[in-house]
Amino acid sequence: MPHSSGGGSHSGGSHGGSSHRSSGGGSFSSGGHSGDSGGPNPLMDSKFSRRPYKDAKKYVIYNRRGKMKYVYHEGGTTAPDWALTIVAVLVMSLIFLPIIKLASLFAYYQPHPINVNSYDSTIVIDDHIGVVDDESLAKSLEPFRAETGVAPSIEIVYDSEWIDDYDSLEKFAYNEYLRIFNDEKHWLILISYPDEFRTQEFVDWKWEGMIGDDTYSVTSKKQVIFTDIFQKHMVRSTPDQLQPAITAAFDEFTPRVMDMEKSTGAAIFMYIMLGIYLFCVRYFVKNHYEHMKMQKAYIVKGNSVQLECEYCGCMYISGTITVCPHCGAPIPAYNGE
Ligand SMILES: [Zn+2]
Repeated sequence: MPHSSGGGSHSGGSHGGSSHRSSGGGSFSSGGHSGDSGGPNPLMDSKFSRRPYKDAKKYVIYNRRGKMKYVYHEGGTTAPDWALTIVAVLVMSLIFLPIIKLASLFAYYQPHPINVNSYDSTIVIDDHIGVVDDESLAKSLEPFRAETGVAPSIEIVYDSEWIDDYDSLEKFAYNEYLRIFNDEKHWLILISYPDEFRTQEFVDWKWEGMIGDDTYSVTSKKQVIFTDIFQKHMVRSTPDQLQPAITAAFDEFTPRVMDMEKSTGAAIFMYIMLGIYLFCVRYFVKNHYEHMKMQKAYIVKGNSVQLECEYCGCMYISGTITVCPHCGAPIPAYNGE
């Protein structure tokens, strides 16, 4: 069913449309983990540090260039578990990526035109009071239709045509929409003038936009912008200038109607979800990498000393290796001298 896109009057300013739509929100719950594992858990136990900390053992790691560095770790040298890491990253991705994708659709929405050939997209101009030229007005609205696929239509009536039978212009406009169109792809702008407007100094016109539901992909959040623009041009014009006012309003609105729409709330939500996701993935990957590094770590005993390879001069720690990590020369047993 069509609904009001907003309207206004000369004496009362403009008003917003009826919003009977709400975009559904989603929720998700991520299951908690419970229970403590008896043994070391390759996903959770890593506490890998370059600085000593309580309960941590000291290890040495030799790199290919013969340099060594100390690391501190308390969990032992548990092997990394590829399957566990992959499953963890996969599960996080399956939970978070659809949420992030959905939030991005709300945060940044690119309107797309509806197919102008999918319905009778004739621009209907119906002027009961004789102030516009139907043909040239219809022609001036064609760029809007070309841009959006939505067919705008203008109906101009006297107040007496509806005022006794309807509570409001909005209700009359609703009925007129249903009477004139059998689709939900038009945008009817209904303008009503007092019967004596030609002799009045202050003409209290009213207008109401009535828009089909199928136009939602184009105009969703832009209707309020249009209402402001249209009201502005209406206020500036006399009844004789109605046609240029309508044309000017659409000329001003058309270049903006397909602009991307942004929602700050949805964008913030999206970035928070993205942050949590990246934090978790980074945690699992970093943890896995540290477990891999620990596979090449040698525990440093309390009485160990730093020595130098006789052949290449690179440093090593006594009691950790039997061949030089740099040149491969056998290392003599350290006798404590
Ligand atoms: Zn060496």
